[in-house]
Amino acid sequence: MQLYKNQNLKVHNSLSGKKEVFQPINEGHIGMYVCGPTVYSNVHLGNCRTFMSFDMIFRYFKHLGFKVRYVRNITDAGHLENDADDGEDKIAKKAKLEQIEPMEVVQRYTVDFHNTLQKFNFLPPSIEPTATGHIIEQIEIIKEILEKGYAYEANGSVYFDVLKFNENNEYGKLSGRKLEDMIANTRELTAQDEKRNPQDFALWKKAEPQHIMRWPSPWGDGFPGWHLECTAMSTKYLGETFDIHGGGMDLKFPHHECEIAQAEASKGKSPVKYWMHANMLTLNGKKMSKSTGNNIYPSEIFSGENDILSKAYAPSAVRFFMMQAHYTSILDLSDDALLASEKGYNRLMDAMENLQTLSTGAKSDFDFGAWKQKCYDAMNDDFNTPILIAHLFDAVKHINLIKEGKESITKEDKTLLENTLNTFVYDVLGLENQSAVKDDSNALNGVMDLLIELRNQARANKDFATSDQIRDRLTALGIQLKDGKDGTSFSVN
Ligand SMILES: [Zn+2]
Repeated sequence: MQLYKNQNLKVHNSLSGKKEVFQPINEGHIGMYVCGPTVYSNVHLGNCRTFMSFDMIFRYFKHLGFKVRYVRNITDAGHLENDADDGEDKIAKKAKLEQIEPMEVVQRYTVDFHNTLQKFNFLPPSIEPTATGHIIEQIEIIKEILEKGYAYEANGSVYFDVLKFNENNEYGKLSGRKLEDMIANTRELTAQDEKRNPQDFALWKKAEPQHIMRWPSPWGDGFPGWHLECTAMSTKYLGETFDIHGGGMDLKFPHHECEIAQAEASKGKSPVKYWMHANMLTLNGKKMSKSTGNNIYPSEIFSGENDILSKAYAPSAVRFFMMQAHYTSILDLSDDALLASEKGYNRLMDAMENLQTLSTGAKSDFDFGAWKQKCYDAMNDDFNTPILIAHLFDAVKHINLIKEGKESITKEDKTLLENTLNTFVYDVLGLENQSAVKDDSNALNGVMDLLIELRNQARANKDFATSDQIRDRLTALGIQLKDGKDGTSFSVN
């Protein structure tokens, strides 16, 4: 029998604001859609947290025996700089800045995104569709919305008619906003505006001659609006109504609200049973922002090359840090918090290794069966990973007591403990034991120290042929040497 039949799973549904018993639309199957990254820059650590929360959720569903189709898109068609449907396309702007093709921007940052997620030990989603690969589907949905009378064309662009939609539907129900309040709080339209009301949003935007990313449509050359791709791709791969739609809290409005409106206007039904939102990550108590410098990239955490943290942290230690908070809580990253998490992570990994060497006895001094169910109960309560981790440390305590000979464990319980820890630590939380990796990097550090020393000697002897050869051969291997006032350091690409 599948595990999920014995577990009473509850999830927090943003639509109702309540924890609800989880009941998929089709028994044993789950369709889950999560809004993916816009690939115009290196992936943000805050976004990594959101995707990691859904990776953990995906992992737990799979562990419970559900067949999950997990769709996470790549936004490669470019978002406009602001919500007001004007401004510049972020991908096109970056392409202009770096004098490359927009699709080169997309390729570069998609690769970075995948590399970073791989370091964090993410499972790949079942389908990872791109917005540019689904222009036809997006145009079809616009046609449907136009036919139903919930959109209008203006000068080669198509806008969603929010006021008209709100007559028979409830715009704002996900984010708890009332359309009347939104209207009261917005500026008047100017004469140049094509929209009938400021709340209307673009389904299709006419491309100005200088706009690089453009596609033909019944309304002329243009590009899809910000919110449309997720409606097109979720409907295509998961159906008109599916189980879970997730994303960061910041996407609730307007993005997800508009997705609901588009789906209800075109298909006449609510698209999603459970809306789930992951909370944000702050840095040293403040919102992360590139412009204020209060920002750090995953690669800077792994390499230690940053002005914010005292040392480098392994991806698994960072993952453990993120799993120590509930996905709906704000989490603050700081050096102290990471140091504490790294200590906890190492204690957990040591216990996992110690467990292998425990000798067994005639009785157990701890009820491991009840403990196992407590681990499930924590996860069943809206994926409460901090409570789960507290239970895992209960086990760590007993492993250490057994090792010291102060408690004993039966052979059956040892097997149960091992299986349960493997399940939750590796399969569900997605942690890896990186001590093997640590040993590798120690060896590399030793070799690099030696090579840097030999290069310094060569330079001191004015043997520049040898010193250049060392640097060039390392570069060819993807290792960069950096000469600074405190000596030479290196980084691995
Ligand atoms: Zn989306």
